[in-house]
Amino acid sequence: MNSNRTFTMLKPDSIEQGNMLPILNMIESSGFKIIALKYKRMSRDEAEKFYSIHSDKPFFNDLVSFMTRGPIVAAALEKDNAVEAFRTLIGSTDPNDAEEGTIRKKFAKSKGENAVHGSDSDENAEIEISFHFNTDEIFS
Ligand code: UDP
Ligand code: MG
Repeated sequence: MNSNRTFTMLKPDSIEQGNMLPILNMIESSGFKIIALKYKRMSRDEAEKFYSIHSDKPFFNDLVSFMTRGPIVAAALEKDNAVEAFRTLIGSTDPNDAEEGTIRKKFAKSKGENAVHGSDSDENAEIEISFHFNTDEIFS
């Protein structure tokens, strides 16, 4: 059975360009319930840990620099089949490949600075939610 939770971050480019509320609005109006929300700047340590699965990729250093250059919005979301439904809503990693109507098509500028993060599995959603939130910060 699929879990009903996923995790997202609005990346620094979204905040810099004034897209925080339009993106949160798209998320809510697509039927996701925001069950946890935090506005914060990640330390280099945190970003390296969060993206450790990509540590051997050529884009890793740029990714960590980008994700720590300003604040992000972290959120836990609830919806039936949340992980897959949210990946559909955000679209492909590269906005050039993203479907019309997706968050990345609308707001992302490049494959690196692509507006939002979305968990890729139920297991990672749980890991990522607990990375950013204590249980008393989640309102399910
Ligand atoms: N990324 C990048 N260059 C690439 C692939 C990924 O800069 O060639 C960045 C991009 O910000 C992406 C993140 O690394 O969102 C994580 O990559 P992943 O393949 O997990 O993509 P996602 O799951 O975010 O679509
Ligand atoms: Mg990913």
